[in-house]
Amino acid sequence: MKQNSPQIVIIGGGVIGTSIAYHLAKQDACVTLIEKNDLASGSSGACDGLVFMQSKKPGVHLSLAMESLNRFESLQRELPIDIEFKKTGGMVIIETDAEYRAMEKFTREQQAIGLDVRLLDQSQALEKEPFLSPSIMGSTFSPLDAQVNPISLTLGLALAAKKNHARVITHAKVLGIHTKNNRVTGVATTQGNFDADMVVNAAGSMAGRVSDMVEMSMPVQPRRGQIVVTHAGKPVLTRCLISAKYIAAKYDPSLADKSGQGISMEQADNGNLLLGSTREFVGFNRENTLSGIKKIIRQTAAILPVLENFQVIRSFAGLRPYTPDGLPILGPVRSLDGFFMAAGHEGDGIALSPITGDLMARMLLGQKIHIPLDAFSPDRFGSNGGKHHD
Ligand SMILES: Cc1cc2nc3c(=O)[nH]c(=O)nc-3n(C[C@H](O)[C@H](O)[C@H](O)COP(=O)(O)OP(=O)(O)OC[C@H]3O[C@@H](n4cnc5c(N)ncnc54)[C@H](O)[C@@H]3O)c2cc1C
Repeated sequence: MKQNSPQIVIIGGGVIGTSIAYHLAKQDACVTLIEKNDLASGSSGACDGLVFMQSKKPGVHLSLAMESLNRFESLQRELPIDIEFKKTGGMVIIETDAEYRAMEKFTREQQAIGLDVRLLDQSQALEKEPFLSPSIMGSTFSPLDAQVNPISLTLGLALAAKKNHARVITHAKVLGIHTKNNRVTGVATTQGNFDADMVVNAAGSMAGRVSDMVEMSMPVQPRRGQIVVTHAGKPVLTRCLISAKYIAAKYDPSLADKSGQGISMEQADNGNLLLGSTREFVGFNRENTLSGIKKIIRQTAAILPVLENFQVIRSFAGLRPYTPDGLPILGPVRSLDGFFMAAGHEGDGIALSPITGDLMARMLLGQKIHIPLDAFSPDRFGSNGGKHHD
């Protein structure tokens, strides 16, 4: 560790906090990550592991995702545990004429910026995934889409951070942030106080609560997603699938069905199918509901009828950190020196974690950044403008 290097405290041991910790520790920074429960106990341990390019809007979001994708292969080699990263390719399943037209436009925009994605008709889609229902109209396909094990990724990043001398403290809840002369000086936790020159808010769906500690309002809201898990069955899917409704639910509510659904499906290495997911604003409630589970099963079975032969073994729910413009909040907060945001990745935090960790580490260490980050600035919401802290 470099002498006299600034002390950096990261709040949150999800995939974002651990990725920042790892990228900082690799550069010999003095970093302490503080997690109130266990690592990956938030959204990063209750989600799918899709590293999807096709679901991102062309523009800054897709560019960031492509940069992130390029880093997964090196992470697979660098991290001390297998993160099960596989470039399987992915498909967006199209069920109606309206969806076909919308996806035609969406893929054209993506192709225009160089994404390798194409539209498939029904028989081409079934050729790729023979267990799909013949009732679908077609799909898109991109060989770039991938999947990863999100829990292994989070734990692997934390382990690698520790190997590089980061302190990782679990079961310590941050209760307050100390400030003096309008700059952060440390955090108070259930395990005592920690000095800090810089504090990073990587508290996922709870990032708003953490910002409230310094009277700064950040519009991060929990958006619940329920997932149903089947027993480990024979291989029936080789790629990750999402439905065109999923993209609609994310970006174009007029196309989404009334309940704002849209499915995602993947088969893990051991054969379990993960079927998801709902998008609901129900506060911090992480329960599964019968209606949510029924919708997921109905919609996934319509696309993959072989599910009739699978047993459901469990369900769980996570809270996506939603922001009003669908983009994460990354970078320094102008009105309080030393306070940084790294939250609000909604349904893309796993996919965006490598690039987020890298960019945040560079920002915290005052290094050059090659990607324009204005679109992600915490100050874009105009919160709090130059409020002073004593
Ligand atoms: C159903 C579902 C499916 C998803 N599928 C995908 C997918 O396929 N691909 C993808 O890229 N993303 C997906 N996501 C999104 C992804 O899970 C999130 O974007 C990502 O996990 C966010 O990571 P995070 O580190 O910001 O938050 P979290 O993982 O929630 O971590 C935040 C941590 O902060 C801790 N914390 C909060 N307050 C404090 C405090 N006061 N003191 C100390 N610690 C605190 C919490 O305990 C938590 O562990 C999905 C999400 C859901 C719910």
